[in-house]
Amino acid sequence: LKRDERFARLTDDHVSFFQKAIGDAAVIANLSGSGEGDLEVFNKDWMNKYRGHAQLVIKPGSAEEMSAVLRYCNEHHLAVVPQGGNTGLVGGSIPVFDEIVVSTSRMNKIRSFDEVSGILVVDAGVVLEAADQFLAEKNHIFPLDLGAKGSCQIGGNVSTNAGGLRLLRYGSLHGNVLGIEAVLPDGTIVDDLSTLRKNNTGYDLKQLFIGGEGTIGIITGVSIICPRRPPAVNVAFFGLESYELAQRAFREAKSQLSEILSAFELMDGTSQDIVHAVTQRKRPLESKYPFYCLIETSGSNAEHDSAKLETFLEHVMSQEIVSDGVLAQDETQAKELWKWREGVPECLGHWGGVYKYDVSIPLPELYQLVEDTRARLHEAKLIGDTDEYPALNVVGYGHMGDANLHLNVAVRRYDKAIEKALEPFVYEWIQKRKGSISAEHGLGLAKKAFIGYSKSETMIRLMKDIKRLYDPNGIMNPYKYI
Ligand code: FAD
Repeated sequence: LKRDERFARLTDDHVSFFQKAIGDAAVIANLSGSGEGDLEVFNKDWMNKYRGHAQLVIKPGSAEEMSAVLRYCNEHHLAVVPQGGNTGLVGGSIPVFDEIVVSTSRMNKIRSFDEVSGILVVDAGVVLEAADQFLAEKNHIFPLDLGAKGSCQIGGNVSTNAGGLRLLRYGSLHGNVLGIEAVLPDGTIVDDLSTLRKNNTGYDLKQLFIGGEGTIGIITGVSIICPRRPPAVNVAFFGLESYELAQRAFREAKSQLSEILSAFELMDGTSQDIVHAVTQRKRPLESKYPFYCLIETSGSNAEHDSAKLETFLEHVMSQEIVSDGVLAQDETQAKELWKWREGVPECLGHWGGVYKYDVSIPLPELYQLVEDTRARLHEAKLIGDTDEYPALNVVGYGHMGDANLHLNVAVRRYDKAIEKALEPFVYEWIQKRKGSISAEHGLGLAKKAFIGYSKSETMIRLMKDIKRLYDPNGIMNPYKYI
Protein backbone atom coordinates (compact mmCIF):
# COMPACT_ATOMS: atom_id res chain seq x y z
CA LEU A 1 0.00 0.00 0.00
CA LYS A 2 1.19 3.49 -0.89
CA ARG A 3 0.01 6.78 0.54
CA ASP A 4 -2.49 8.39 -1.82
CA GLU A 5 -0.92 11.74 -2.76
CA ARG A 6 -4.34 13.22 -3.60
CA PHE A 7 -4.66 13.72 0.14
CA ALA A 8 -3.13 16.87 1.61
CA ARG A 9 -0.49 16.76 4.33
CA LEU A 10 -1.37 18.38 7.62
CA THR A 11 -0.21 21.90 8.38
CA ASP A 12 -0.39 24.16 11.42
CA ASP A 13 -3.13 26.14 9.67
CA HIS A 14 -5.32 23.05 9.53
CA VAL A 15 -4.76 22.40 13.21
CA SER A 16 -5.60 26.02 14.09
CA PHE A 17 -8.86 25.72 12.19
CA PHE A 18 -9.91 22.65 14.20
CA GLN A 19 -8.87 24.25 17.48
CA LYS A 20 -11.04 27.27 16.71
CA ALA A 21 -13.97 25.18 15.46
CA ILE A 22 -14.25 22.73 18.36
CA GLY A 23 -11.90 23.99 21.09
CA ASP A 24 -8.28 23.31 22.03
CA ALA A 25 -9.17 20.55 24.47
CA ALA A 26 -10.85 18.49 21.75
CA VAL A 27 -7.80 18.46 19.49
CA ILE A 28 -4.63 16.44 20.06
CA ALA A 29 -1.86 17.26 17.62
CA ASN A 30 1.73 16.21 17.10
CA LEU A 31 2.81 17.45 13.71
CA SER A 32 6.52 17.19 14.36
CA GLY A 33 6.21 13.41 14.61
CA SER A 34 8.58 13.45 17.59
CA GLY A 35 7.54 10.52 19.76
CA GLU A 36 3.91 9.49 19.67
CA GLY A 37 2.88 10.57 23.16
CA ASP A 38 -0.86 10.98 23.57
CA LEU A 39 -1.55 9.79 20.05
CA GLU A 40 -0.26 6.28 20.53
CA VAL A 41 -3.51 4.75 21.80
CA PHE A 42 -5.32 6.02 18.70
CA ASN A 43 -2.66 4.65 16.38
CA LYS A 44 -2.67 1.02 17.45
CA ASP A 45 -5.40 -1.58 17.64
CA TRP A 46 -6.60 -3.95 20.35
CA MET A 47 -4.56 -6.86 18.94
CA ASN A 48 -1.40 -4.80 18.49
CA LYS A 49 -1.43 -5.81 14.87
CA TYR A 50 -2.04 -2.54 13.06
CA ARG A 51 -0.17 0.69 13.55
CA GLY A 52 -1.02 4.05 12.06
CA HIS A 53 0.79 7.37 11.83
CA ALA A 54 -1.93 9.91 12.59
CA GLN A 55 -0.55 13.23 13.77
CA LEU A 56 -3.94 14.58 14.72
CA VAL A 57 -6.94 13.35 16.71
CA ILE A 58 -10.15 15.39 16.72
CA LYS A 59 -13.05 14.85 19.09
CA PRO A 60 -16.15 16.74 17.98
CA GLY A 61 -18.79 17.13 20.70
CA SER A 62 -21.94 17.31 18.56
CA ALA A 63 -23.31 16.60 15.08
CA GLU A 64 -22.83 20.30 14.24
CA GLU A 65 -19.15 20.18 15.24
CA MET A 66 -18.75 16.94 13.30
CA SER A 67 -20.28 18.65 10.30
CA ALA A 68 -17.84 21.59 10.50
CA VAL A 69 -14.88 19.19 10.86
CA LEU A 70 -15.81 16.91 7.96
CA ARG A 71 -16.74 19.77 5.61
CA TYR A 72 -13.30 21.31 6.21
CA CYS A 73 -11.53 17.97 5.70
CA ASN A 74 -13.43 17.38 2.48
CA GLU A 75 -12.68 20.84 1.10
CA HIS A 76 -8.99 20.49 1.99
CA HIS A 77 -8.65 16.85 0.90
CA LEU A 78 -7.69 15.64 4.36
CA ALA A 79 -8.34 11.94 4.84
CA VAL A 80 -10.06 10.78 8.05
CA VAL A 81 -10.61 7.60 10.04
CA PRO A 82 -13.67 7.43 12.27
CA GLN A 83 -12.85 5.85 15.62
CA GLY A 84 -15.18 4.71 18.41
CA GLY A 85 -13.90 2.47 21.19
CA ASN A 86 -11.11 1.11 18.95
CA THR A 87 -11.95 -2.51 19.76
CA GLY A 88 -12.55 -3.56 16.15
CA LEU A 89 -10.71 -6.69 15.05
CA VAL A 90 -9.99 -6.00 11.37
CA GLY A 91 -7.88 -2.85 11.55
CA GLY A 92 -10.75 -0.61 10.39
CA SER A 93 -10.38 2.04 13.08
CA ILE A 94 -6.62 2.56 12.69
CA PRO A 95 -5.11 5.00 10.19
CA VAL A 96 -2.92 3.38 7.56
CA PHE A 97 -0.78 6.47 6.97
CA ASP A 98 -1.38 9.96 8.37
CA GLU A 99 -5.19 10.08 8.20
CA ILE A 100 -6.82 12.23 10.89
CA VAL A 101 -8.52 10.20 13.61
CA VAL A 102 -12.02 11.56 14.24
CA SER A 103 -13.11 10.14 17.58
CA THR A 104 -16.71 10.07 18.85
CA SER A 105 -15.67 9.63 22.48
CA ARG A 106 -16.89 13.09 23.54
CA MET A 107 -20.35 12.40 22.15
CA ASN A 108 -21.46 10.27 25.07
CA LYS A 109 -24.94 11.39 26.13
CA ILE A 110 -28.08 9.34 26.38
CA ARG A 111 -30.60 11.50 24.56
CA SER A 112 -33.92 9.88 25.46
CA PHE A 113 -35.62 6.67 26.50
CA ASP A 114 -39.29 5.81 26.12
CA GLU A 115 -40.32 3.28 28.76
CA VAL A 116 -43.48 2.27 26.91
CA SER A 117 -41.93 1.41 23.54
CA GLY A 118 -38.41 0.63 24.86
CA ILE A 119 -36.85 2.96 22.28
CA LEU A 120 -33.49 4.43 23.27
CA VAL A 121 -31.82 7.36 21.51
CA VAL A 122 -28.11 7.88 22.17
CA ASP A 123 -25.06 9.75 20.95
CA ALA A 124 -22.76 7.50 18.92
CA GLY A 125 -20.00 7.66 21.54
CA VAL A 126 -21.97 6.09 24.38
CA VAL A 127 -20.09 3.01 25.61
CA LEU A 128 -22.15 -0.16 25.18
CA GLU A 129 -21.88 -1.16 28.84
CA ALA A 130 -22.97 2.33 29.98
CA ALA A 131 -26.08 2.08 27.80
CA ASP A 132 -26.86 -1.38 29.16
CA GLN A 133 -26.43 -0.19 32.76
CA PHE A 134 -28.74 2.76 32.11
CA LEU A 135 -31.30 0.35 30.62
CA ALA A 136 -30.97 -2.06 33.56
CA GLU A 137 -32.31 0.67 35.85
CA LYS A 138 -35.32 0.91 33.55
CA ASN A 139 -35.79 -2.88 33.43
CA HIS A 140 -34.67 -3.04 29.83
CA ILE A 141 -31.70 -4.58 28.07
CA PHE A 142 -29.54 -3.54 25.11
CA PRO A 143 -30.23 -6.00 22.26
CA LEU A 144 -26.47 -6.49 21.71
CA ASP A 145 -23.84 -7.83 24.07
CA LEU A 146 -20.19 -8.63 23.44
CA GLY A 147 -16.90 -9.17 25.20
CA ALA A 148 -15.64 -5.64 24.44
CA LYS A 149 -18.71 -3.97 25.99
CA GLY A 150 -16.65 -1.97 28.52
CA SER A 151 -14.87 -0.05 25.72
CA CYS A 152 -16.76 -0.32 22.43
CA GLN A 153 -19.20 2.44 21.53
CA ILE A 154 -22.65 2.19 20.05
CA GLY A 155 -21.57 4.11 16.94
CA GLY A 156 -18.78 1.58 16.44
CA ASN A 157 -21.13 -1.32 17.07
CA VAL A 158 -23.57 -0.04 14.45
CA SER A 159 -20.78 0.77 11.99
CA THR A 160 -19.51 -2.81 12.22
CA ASN A 161 -23.03 -4.26 12.50
CA ALA A 162 -21.69 -6.18 15.50
CA GLY A 163 -23.42 -9.50 16.13
CA GLY A 164 -22.36 -10.71 19.56
CA LEU A 165 -23.87 -12.96 22.16
CA ARG A 166 -27.55 -12.06 21.98
CA LEU A 167 -28.14 -12.10 18.23
CA LEU A 168 -29.73 -15.53 18.42
CA ARG A 169 -32.51 -14.08 20.54
CA TYR A 170 -32.88 -10.42 19.56
CA GLY A 171 -31.72 -10.41 15.95
CA SER A 172 -29.23 -8.15 14.16
CA LEU A 173 -28.74 -4.39 14.34
CA HIS A 174 -30.19 -4.16 10.82
CA GLY A 175 -33.52 -4.93 12.48
CA ASN A 176 -33.11 -3.28 15.88
CA VAL A 177 -31.69 0.09 14.83
CA LEU A 178 -34.68 2.30 13.99
CA GLY A 179 -32.89 5.47 13.08
CA ILE A 180 -29.51 7.04 12.50
CA GLU A 181 -28.07 10.53 12.55
CA ALA A 182 -24.88 10.75 10.50
CA VAL A 183 -22.63 13.33 8.95
CA LEU A 184 -21.49 13.02 5.34
CA PRO A 185 -18.05 14.16 4.18
CA ASP A 186 -19.51 17.37 2.70
CA GLY A 187 -20.88 18.27 6.13
CA THR A 188 -24.52 17.31 5.43
CA ILE A 189 -26.23 16.14 8.60
CA VAL A 190 -28.38 13.15 7.67
CA ASP A 191 -31.23 13.32 10.16
CA ASP A 192 -32.85 9.91 9.90
CA LEU A 193 -33.18 9.44 13.65
CA SER A 194 -36.62 7.87 13.38
CA THR A 195 -38.13 6.26 16.46
CA LEU A 196 -40.72 4.37 14.45
CA ARG A 197 -40.91 0.61 14.33
CA LYS A 198 -42.55 0.69 10.92
CA ASN A 199 -41.57 3.19 8.27
CA ASN A 200 -41.90 2.06 4.67
CA THR A 201 -41.22 5.27 2.82
CA GLY A 202 -38.78 4.35 0.09
CA TYR A 203 -35.12 3.35 0.29
CA ASP A 204 -34.00 2.62 3.84
CA LEU A 205 -30.73 4.53 3.54
CA LYS A 206 -29.73 4.17 7.20
CA GLN A 207 -28.98 0.50 6.44
CA LEU A 208 -25.94 1.64 4.42
CA PHE A 209 -24.36 3.02 7.59
CA ILE A 210 -25.05 -0.20 9.52
CA GLY A 211 -21.95 -2.26 8.76
CA GLY A 212 -20.53 0.51 6.50
CA GLU A 213 -17.33 0.67 8.65
CA GLY A 214 -17.03 4.43 8.41
CA THR A 215 -16.57 4.56 4.64
CA ILE A 216 -19.45 6.88 3.71
CA GLY A 217 -19.98 9.10 6.76
CA ILE A 218 -19.76 9.26 10.53
CA ILE A 219 -22.68 8.14 12.69
CA THR A 220 -23.40 10.66 15.45
CA GLY A 221 -26.69 9.37 16.88
CA VAL A 222 -28.58 6.08 17.01
CA SER A 223 -32.13 5.13 17.95
CA ILE A 224 -32.67 1.50 18.82
CA ILE A 225 -35.44 -0.69 20.14
CA CYS A 226 -34.55 -2.41 23.42
CA PRO A 227 -36.42 -5.38 24.86
CA ARG A 228 -37.62 -5.73 28.48
CA ARG A 229 -34.90 -7.13 30.70
CA PRO A 230 -35.79 -10.79 31.24
CA PRO A 231 -36.10 -11.37 35.00
CA ALA A 232 -35.11 -15.03 34.77
CA VAL A 233 -31.71 -15.74 33.22
CA ASN A 234 -30.13 -19.19 33.44
CA VAL A 235 -26.76 -20.38 32.22
CA ALA A 236 -25.61 -23.96 31.68
CA PHE A 237 -22.18 -25.21 30.61
CA PHE A 238 -21.64 -28.67 29.07
CA GLY A 239 -18.86 -30.97 28.03
CA LEU A 240 -19.35 -33.03 24.87
CA GLU A 241 -17.38 -35.78 23.16
CA SER A 242 -17.74 -34.59 19.54
CA TYR A 243 -18.87 -31.76 17.28
CA GLU A 244 -21.58 -34.08 16.01
CA LEU A 245 -23.02 -34.19 19.54
CA ALA A 246 -22.78 -30.40 19.85
CA GLN A 247 -25.03 -30.16 16.80
CA ARG A 248 -27.50 -32.59 18.35
CA ALA A 249 -27.47 -30.56 21.58
CA PHE A 250 -28.24 -27.41 19.58
CA ARG A 251 -31.18 -29.08 17.84
CA GLU A 252 -32.55 -30.28 21.19
CA ALA A 253 -32.05 -26.84 22.74
CA LYS A 254 -33.98 -25.19 19.94
CA SER A 255 -36.82 -27.65 20.17
CA GLN A 256 -37.08 -27.91 23.97
CA LEU A 257 -36.08 -24.42 25.09
CA SER A 258 -37.44 -22.66 22.01
CA GLU A 259 -38.58 -19.13 22.95
CA ILE A 260 -36.37 -18.83 26.06
CA LEU A 261 -33.09 -19.81 24.38
CA SER A 262 -30.95 -16.64 24.25
CA ALA A 263 -27.43 -17.91 23.50
CA PHE A 264 -25.81 -21.10 22.26
CA GLU A 265 -22.03 -20.83 22.22
CA LEU A 266 -19.39 -23.37 21.22
CA MET A 267 -15.84 -23.63 22.59
CA ASP A 268 -13.41 -26.38 21.64
CA GLY A 269 -11.24 -28.10 24.22
CA THR A 270 -8.07 -26.29 23.13
CA SER A 271 -9.66 -22.87 23.64
CA GLN A 272 -10.63 -23.85 27.18
CA ASP A 273 -7.15 -25.24 27.91
CA ILE A 274 -5.77 -21.85 26.93
CA VAL A 275 -8.19 -19.91 29.14
CA HIS A 276 -7.24 -22.25 31.97
CA ALA A 277 -3.51 -21.86 31.35
CA VAL A 278 -3.72 -18.06 31.32
CA THR A 279 -6.22 -17.43 34.14
CA GLN A 280 -5.51 -20.47 36.36
CA ARG A 281 -9.21 -20.42 37.31
CA LYS A 282 -10.84 -23.65 38.44
CA ARG A 283 -12.51 -25.37 35.49
CA PRO A 284 -16.33 -25.58 35.58
CA LEU A 285 -16.31 -29.36 34.93
CA GLU A 286 -14.02 -31.94 36.52
CA SER A 287 -13.04 -33.83 33.38
CA LYS A 288 -11.76 -32.42 30.11
CA TYR A 289 -13.77 -32.73 26.88
CA PRO A 290 -13.04 -32.04 23.21
CA PHE A 291 -16.01 -29.61 23.05
CA TYR A 292 -18.00 -27.39 25.38
CA CYS A 293 -21.25 -25.51 24.92
CA LEU A 294 -22.65 -22.64 26.91
CA ILE A 295 -26.40 -22.21 26.84
CA GLU A 296 -28.25 -19.21 28.17
CA THR A 297 -32.00 -18.92 28.60
CA SER A 298 -33.84 -15.68 29.26
CA GLY A 299 -37.50 -15.56 30.15
CA SER A 300 -40.15 -13.88 32.25
CA ASN A 301 -41.01 -16.72 34.60
CA ALA A 302 -38.20 -18.26 36.68
CA GLU A 303 -40.13 -21.37 37.71
CA HIS A 304 -41.27 -22.14 34.19
CA ASP A 305 -37.77 -21.58 32.77
CA SER A 306 -36.02 -23.71 35.41
CA ALA A 307 -38.46 -26.56 34.83
CA LYS A 308 -37.84 -26.37 31.09
CA LEU A 309 -34.07 -26.26 31.49
CA GLU A 310 -34.03 -29.17 33.93
CA THR A 311 -36.11 -31.31 31.58
CA PHE A 312 -33.77 -30.40 28.75
CA LEU A 313 -30.70 -31.27 30.85
CA GLU A 314 -32.12 -34.63 31.91
CA HIS A 315 -32.92 -35.41 28.31
CA VAL A 316 -29.51 -34.57 26.84
CA MET A 317 -27.71 -36.41 29.65
CA SER A 318 -29.88 -39.52 29.46
CA GLN A 319 -29.47 -39.63 25.67
CA GLU A 320 -25.70 -39.26 26.17
CA ILE A 321 -25.62 -36.21 23.95
CA VAL A 322 -23.92 -34.30 26.72
CA SER A 323 -21.28 -36.00 28.92
CA ASP A 324 -21.33 -33.63 31.87
CA GLY A 325 -22.86 -30.29 32.68
CA VAL A 326 -23.26 -27.61 35.31
CA LEU A 327 -26.07 -25.15 35.87
CA ALA A 328 -25.27 -21.74 37.38
CA GLN A 329 -26.96 -21.37 40.76
CA ASP A 330 -26.87 -17.58 40.87
CA GLU A 331 -25.81 -14.52 38.88
CA THR A 332 -22.22 -14.65 40.10
CA GLN A 333 -21.87 -18.23 38.91
CA ALA A 334 -23.52 -17.38 35.61
CA LYS A 335 -20.97 -14.59 35.06
CA GLU A 336 -18.19 -16.98 36.03
CA LEU A 337 -19.33 -19.47 33.36
CA TRP A 338 -19.59 -16.73 30.74
CA LYS A 339 -15.94 -15.85 31.41
CA TRP A 340 -14.92 -19.22 29.96
CA ARG A 341 -16.43 -18.10 26.68
CA GLU A 342 -15.83 -14.36 26.76
CA GLY A 343 -12.24 -14.76 27.96
CA VAL A 344 -11.12 -16.75 24.91
CA PRO A 345 -10.13 -13.83 22.60
CA GLU A 346 -8.03 -12.11 25.26
CA CYS A 347 -6.29 -15.27 26.53
CA LEU A 348 -5.38 -16.36 23.00
CA GLY A 349 -3.17 -13.33 22.52
CA HIS A 350 -1.18 -14.12 25.65
CA TRP A 351 1.87 -15.59 23.91
CA GLY A 352 2.29 -13.10 21.10
CA GLY A 353 -0.48 -12.67 18.57
CA VAL A 354 -3.54 -14.19 16.93
CA TYR A 355 -4.64 -14.66 13.33
CA LYS A 356 -8.40 -14.27 13.45
CA TYR A 357 -11.02 -15.50 11.02
CA ASP A 358 -14.63 -14.72 11.84
CA VAL A 359 -16.69 -16.73 9.41
CA SER A 360 -20.17 -18.02 8.62
CA ILE A 361 -20.32 -21.63 7.47
CA PRO A 362 -23.31 -23.98 7.21
CA LEU A 363 -23.45 -25.74 10.61
CA PRO A 364 -22.70 -29.34 9.53
CA GLU A 365 -19.22 -28.31 8.31
CA LEU A 366 -18.50 -25.51 10.76
CA TYR A 367 -15.82 -27.23 12.83
CA GLN A 368 -14.21 -29.03 9.89
CA LEU A 369 -12.47 -25.76 9.00
CA VAL A 370 -10.59 -25.83 12.33
CA GLU A 371 -9.41 -29.40 11.73
CA ASP A 372 -8.37 -28.73 8.14
CA THR A 373 -6.47 -25.59 9.17
CA ARG A 374 -4.69 -27.43 11.96
CA ALA A 375 -3.67 -30.19 9.53
CA ARG A 376 -2.42 -27.62 7.04
CA LEU A 377 -0.16 -25.90 9.57
CA HIS A 378 1.22 -29.26 10.74
CA GLU A 379 1.94 -30.25 7.17
CA ALA A 380 3.79 -26.97 6.62
CA LYS A 381 5.72 -27.59 9.88
CA LEU A 382 4.64 -24.20 11.22
CA ILE A 383 2.99 -25.34 14.44
CA GLY A 384 4.47 -27.00 17.50
CA ASP A 385 5.32 -26.88 21.19
CA THR A 386 8.76 -25.30 20.97
CA ASP A 387 9.98 -21.82 20.10
CA GLU A 388 11.19 -22.79 16.64
CA TYR A 389 7.56 -23.00 15.45
CA PRO A 390 5.78 -19.67 14.97
CA ALA A 391 2.28 -21.09 15.62
CA LEU A 392 1.13 -22.50 18.96
CA ASN A 393 -2.46 -23.58 18.52
CA VAL A 394 -5.48 -23.57 16.24
CA VAL A 395 -8.77 -23.12 18.06
CA GLY A 396 -12.42 -22.87 17.16
CA TYR A 397 -15.17 -21.23 19.18
CA GLY A 398 -18.03 -18.85 18.57
CA HIS A 399 -21.69 -18.20 18.17
CA MET A 400 -22.77 -21.67 17.08
CA GLY A 401 -26.41 -20.61 17.34
CA ASP A 402 -25.78 -18.21 14.44
CA ALA A 403 -23.53 -20.65 12.48
CA ASN A 404 -20.67 -18.21 13.21
CA LEU A 405 -17.25 -19.69 13.90
CA HIS A 406 -14.19 -17.86 15.18
CA LEU A 407 -11.19 -19.72 13.76
CA ASN A 408 -8.17 -18.40 15.62
CA VAL A 409 -4.51 -19.27 15.25
CA ALA A 410 -2.50 -18.30 18.33
CA VAL A 411 1.10 -17.49 17.43
CA ARG A 412 4.36 -16.71 19.15
CA ARG A 413 5.03 -14.07 16.52
CA TYR A 414 3.36 -12.75 13.39
CA ASP A 415 5.02 -14.53 10.50
CA LYS A 416 4.64 -14.27 6.71
CA ALA A 417 4.90 -18.04 6.31
CA ILE A 418 1.84 -18.60 8.49
CA GLU A 419 -0.06 -15.92 6.62
CA LYS A 420 0.79 -17.61 3.34
CA ALA A 421 -0.36 -20.98 4.64
CA LEU A 422 -3.66 -19.53 5.87
CA GLU A 423 -4.60 -17.11 3.11
CA PRO A 424 -6.22 -17.62 0.70
CA PHE A 425 -6.63 -21.24 1.94
CA VAL A 426 -9.24 -20.28 4.56
CA TYR A 427 -11.14 -18.02 2.17
CA GLU A 428 -11.21 -20.61 -0.63
CA TRP A 429 -12.45 -23.20 1.85
CA ILE A 430 -15.30 -20.89 2.85
CA GLN A 431 -16.19 -19.87 -0.69
CA LYS A 432 -16.57 -23.55 -1.66
CA ARG A 433 -19.23 -23.90 1.06
CA LYS A 434 -20.95 -20.62 0.16
CA GLY A 435 -20.08 -19.19 3.55
CA SER A 436 -19.06 -15.64 4.45
CA ILE A 437 -15.47 -14.51 5.05
CA SER A 438 -16.76 -12.06 7.64
CA ALA A 439 -19.71 -13.00 9.81
CA GLU A 440 -19.62 -10.06 12.22
CA HIS A 441 -16.28 -8.25 12.46
CA GLY A 442 -16.35 -6.60 9.04
CA LEU A 443 -13.66 -6.29 6.38
CA GLY A 444 -11.60 -3.27 7.44
CA LEU A 445 -8.02 -3.54 6.25
CA ALA A 446 -7.54 -7.19 7.21
CA LYS A 447 -9.92 -8.58 4.59
CA LYS A 448 -9.67 -5.89 1.95
CA ALA A 449 -7.99 -8.18 -0.56
CA PHE A 450 -10.47 -11.00 -0.04
CA ILE A 451 -13.88 -9.35 -0.48
CA GLY A 452 -14.25 -11.19 -3.81
CA TYR A 453 -14.57 -14.50 -1.96
CA SER A 454 -17.92 -13.39 -0.53
CA LYS A 455 -19.23 -10.72 -2.92
CA SER A 456 -19.69 -10.91 -6.68
CA GLU A 457 -18.21 -8.37 -9.08
CA THR A 458 -21.64 -6.83 -9.58
CA MET A 459 -22.12 -6.33 -5.85
CA ILE A 460 -18.66 -4.79 -5.49
CA ARG A 461 -19.38 -2.42 -8.40
CA LEU A 462 -22.66 -1.29 -6.80
CA MET A 463 -20.87 -0.74 -3.49
CA LYS A 464 -18.26 1.39 -5.23
CA ASP A 465 -21.01 3.43 -6.89
CA ILE A 466 -22.49 4.19 -3.48
CA LYS A 467 -19.09 5.07 -2.05
CA ARG A 468 -18.50 7.55 -4.91
CA LEU A 469 -21.91 9.12 -4.45
CA TYR A 470 -21.53 9.72 -0.71
CA ASP A 471 -17.80 10.40 -0.64
CA PRO A 472 -16.66 11.71 -4.06
CA ASN A 473 -13.25 12.81 -2.72
CA GLY A 474 -12.67 9.45 -1.04
CA ILE A 475 -11.63 10.99 2.29
CA MET A 476 -13.65 8.60 4.50
CA ASN A 477 -11.56 5.75 5.87
CA PRO A 478 -9.41 5.30 2.75
CA TYR A 479 -7.25 2.21 2.03
CA LYS A 480 -9.85 -0.01 3.73
CA TYR A 481 -12.15 -2.54 2.06
CA ILE A 482 -13.58 -0.14 -0.52
P1 FAD B 1 -13.99 0.87 16.47
O1 FAD B 1 -13.09 -0.28 16.64
O2 FAD B 1 -13.52 2.18 16.96
O3 FAD B 1 -14.35 1.02 14.90
C1 FAD B 1 -14.78 -0.08 14.15
C2 FAD B 1 -15.08 0.38 12.70
O4 FAD B 1 -16.20 1.27 12.68
C3 FAD B 1 -13.95 1.16 12.07
O5 FAD B 1 -13.94 0.91 10.69
C4 FAD B 1 -14.31 2.62 12.32
O6 FAD B 1 -13.78 3.48 11.35
C5 FAD B 1 -15.82 2.57 12.25
N1 FAD B 1 -16.51 3.51 13.16
C6 FAD B 1 -16.41 3.60 14.50
N2 FAD B 1 -17.27 4.51 14.98
C7 FAD B 1 -17.91 5.03 13.91
C8 FAD B 1 -18.93 6.01 13.74
N3 FAD B 1 -19.47 6.66 14.77
N4 FAD B 1 -19.37 6.28 12.49
C9 FAD B 1 -18.84 5.63 11.41
N5 FAD B 1 -17.89 4.71 11.52
C10 FAD B 1 -17.44 4.39 12.75
N6 FAD B 1 -17.75 -8.13 17.37
C11 FAD B 1 -18.90 -8.80 17.18
O7 FAD B 1 -19.59 -8.54 16.20
N7 FAD B 1 -19.30 -9.79 18.05
C12 FAD B 1 -18.59 -10.13 19.14
O8 FAD B 1 -18.98 -11.02 19.90
C13 FAD B 1 -17.37 -9.41 19.39
N8 FAD B 1 -16.63 -9.68 20.48
C14 FAD B 1 -15.50 -8.97 20.70
C15 FAD B 1 -14.75 -9.25 21.85
C16 FAD B 1 -13.58 -8.56 22.11
C17 FAD B 1 -12.80 -8.87 23.36
C18 FAD B 1 -13.14 -7.55 21.20
C19 FAD B 1 -11.90 -6.76 21.46
C20 FAD B 1 -13.88 -7.25 20.06
C21 FAD B 1 -15.05 -7.96 19.78
N9 FAD B 1 -15.81 -7.71 18.64
C22 FAD B 1 -16.98 -8.40 18.44
C23 FAD B 1 -15.38 -6.74 17.59
C24 FAD B 1 -16.36 -5.62 17.39
O9 FAD B 1 -16.42 -5.22 16.04
C25 FAD B 1 -16.13 -4.40 18.21
O10 FAD B 1 -15.87 -4.72 19.53
C26 FAD B 1 -17.21 -3.29 18.19
O11 FAD B 1 -18.38 -3.49 17.47
C27 FAD B 1 -16.54 -2.09 17.58
O12 FAD B 1 -16.91 -0.95 18.29
P2 FAD B 1 -15.85 0.21 18.55
O13 FAD B 1 -16.61 1.35 19.14
O14 FAD B 1 -14.70 -0.28 19.32
O15 FAD B 1 -15.45 0.59 17.05
